[in-house]
Amino acid sequence: MEKVVIIGTGCAGLTAAIYAARSNLSPLVFTGKMPGGLLTTTSIVENFPGFPEGIDGYELMVRMQKQAERFGARVKTLQCLEAVDFSKCPFSLTVDGEVIATQTVIIATGAGHRHLGLESEHLLEKKGVTYCATCDGAWPMFRNQPLVVVGGGDSACEEAIYLTRFASEVFLVHRRDKLRASKIMAERVHCHSKIKLVWDSAVTEILDTKLDKVTAVRLKNLKTGDESVLPCAGVFVAIGHVPNTHLFKDLLDMDSNGYIKPKHGTHTNIPGVFVAGDCSDHVYRQAVTAAGMGCAAAIDAERYLADHCS
Ligand code: NAP
Repeated sequence: MEKVVIIGTGCAGLTAAIYAARSNLSPLVFTGKMPGGLLTTTSIVENFPGFPEGIDGYELMVRMQKQAERFGARVKTLQCLEAVDFSKCPFSLTVDGEVIATQTVIIATGAGHRHLGLESEHLLEKKGVTYCATCDGAWPMFRNQPLVVVGGGDSACEEAIYLTRFASEVFLVHRRDKLRASKIMAERVHCHSKIKLVWDSAVTEILDTKLDKVTAVRLKNLKTGDESVLPCAGVFVAIGHVPNTHLFKDLLDMDSNGYIKPKHGTHTNIPGVFVAGDCSDHVYRQAVTAAGMGCAAAIDAERYLADHCS
């Protein structure tokens, strides 16, 4: 019987693991399909306190995991969380065919990349369409070529700036005429000589599925209705995220976008099940806020165990 099972090893899950481990709860922590979470795909994280020069996202997550393991967290690579049963305590989780009983669960499953939803996007994924500049930007096919980034938030700006290392020029295609990104990121984009902003525009098709590679995007100006074709060798989609919560649908209270709704603190509608990080936060979505929620979830779980489980 486990005391605490944590699902997810992003900032929320690993911070929960550090706190739960330091409370001698020996948490079992499952990685999910992306160990370390989305932050591992970021280059330099400049706003996590304590790192004045910034820190590589992957390194930050490796350090967090080491810190959790140092105090007794058991981090396991999970291929598939197949089922959960929260109908009675202890809860049961079916993980890679094995059933695990636990007194509490902390859900920190994070969020995945939102897709444009175009058929051509799907057909050309990994053939020039990608969701991570840090992971894929250095591919030879992108070198000295025009590249397109879609989106207007911090992620899109970060991707665009990163890609200027490789691309001949970067076109940032945004559906409005104002960036959603933070001021500092927006300014960096506006000032960069290699980045060109394409306002009020939607990508309606990625070409060329017949050639099985990206050669251009078809754009529609949403104000004028005009259509155009912009040649490029790659498309980097950075239009936000969707929470990884489908397994908990109909079990936990969620909003219409699938974000789990905490009741007070990190409690969910099921006593003993707690939630932290991007799978429940569509407002702040920062590494440091996810870490804070992970900390709170571990404290809430510890108090729940003290009150309900001897
Ligand atoms: P975001 O802030 O939600 O921005 C998503 C962008 O994509 C918005 O500009 C949105 O347009 C656009 N968009 C959404 N759906 C679209 C669609 N179907 N077609 C075309 N465009 C679409 O997401 P994010 O940039 O991933 O950032 C998420 C959070 O992480 C934010 O809180 C951000 O501050 C944080 N973050 C911080 C950093 C950093 O500090 N360096 C880096 C990355 C992320 P509209 O503007 O019209 O809504």
